[in-house]
Amino acid sequence: MSQTVNRADFDQVMVPNYAPADYIPVRGQGSRVWDQSGREYVDFGGGIAVNALGHAHPALVKALTEQAQKVWHVSNSLTNEPALQLAHKLVDATFADRVFFCNSGAEANEAAFKLARRWAIETGGADKFEIISTTNSFHGRTFFTVTVGGQPKYSDGFGPRPAGVTHIAYNDLDALRAAISDKTAAVVVEPIQGEGGVLPASREYLQGVRELCNKHNALMVLDEVQTGVGRTGSLYAYMEYGVTPDILTSAKSLGGGFPIGAMLTTEAIAKHFAPGTHGSTYGGNPLACAVASAVLDVVNTPATLAGVRTKHDKFLTKLDAINASTGVFETVRGMGLLIGAVLADKYKGRAKDFMTAAAKEGVIVLQAGPDVVRFAPSLIIEDADIDEGMARFERAVRAVTSA
Ligand SMILES: *Cc1c(COP(=O)(O)O)cnc(C)c1O
Repeated sequence: MSQTVNRADFDQVMVPNYAPADYIPVRGQGSRVWDQSGREYVDFGGGIAVNALGHAHPALVKALTEQAQKVWHVSNSLTNEPALQLAHKLVDATFADRVFFCNSGAEANEAAFKLARRWAIETGGADKFEIISTTNSFHGRTFFTVTVGGQPKYSDGFGPRPAGVTHIAYNDLDALRAAISDKTAAVVVEPIQGEGGVLPASREYLQGVRELCNKHNALMVLDEVQTGVGRTGSLYAYMEYGVTPDILTSAKSLGGGFPIGAMLTTEAIAKHFAPGTHGSTYGGNPLACAVASAVLDVVNTPATLAGVRTKHDKFLTKLDAINASTGVFETVRGMGLLIGAVLADKYKGRAKDFMTAAAKEGVIVLQAGPDVVRFAPSLIIEDADIDEGMARFERAVRAVTSA
């Protein structure tokens, strides 16, 4: 069946909002992927920080197929066991007392922003609805989330945006101090700007955001859609920073490749989402929750989290060696297994060329904007896969630099 369609079909039958590569993956195992022609790739992209346990992890296959024999979907006029089990795990493992499930990062943020406004208006009055976000941030593709996101290219050209959203520079506490007021409902931050170039927040910044939110009775919303579920070497990045948010959003790695999103918050804030105020037909789906539970069981262990840190060091050692002989990177940054190699001036704007050259050599890497090559592999990628993938990536770098 897979041979009867190919990349050309995309242009025939798909809306052209994506421009996918010329190969089509048909199978994955661990951190290796095979395309239609049987070519094998090392996967350093992890489906953009999604496949936290690689492809076809036995525990996830088991969770999914076992649940598939039981019940796939019930309406939200009923609850279900996998959702309650997953919620217990998230509450036990984090600051949160309450969880809302949905299907994606954008939906988790949409829920977070709506809840923050609802909380603010109900506790602070009708004028307390402003949301402060940061330039270059990314929070999803619904109209509210592109509006809060700090990349106008994603929100321009669709007519009037939801009001009351301002953007200030990231990692700039003075800018926040100047912008925040008692009309602020929420300050929204990614602990590491992922799509914006794998740019980590400083410790002082996140702690300062927390203090300013406290001072103005505003909620601190952490978008951990990309940084969450072990990606940074802690279950959530806020744990690395010693800062507790009021609302946290999670998706991507949470489902290990099965769609799910979650919004985590406290009991006092959650109560402002009374019955009927918000919802999602598929949110809390038993299949998704069963898989996410299995993901958490593997990820939230000392061995997996320590492994993320060790593998981070291995990636950095390899990238530094490539840089020492080619000079392609200005710097390499990030935490855990969310790593951005910032291209040197000579190669700025060419991240996509590195991505394409890498695929030609048999390794999948990502970009994070035009100037950054991004790595977001499986949290349990084997050392042998890192070695082989980096050997291929080095050949790709040489292909670009010698072209
Ligand atoms: C990917 C991402 C989103 C959007 O998630 P979707 O599942 O694509 O809706 C939101 N915020 C951050 C930080 C992300 O990296």
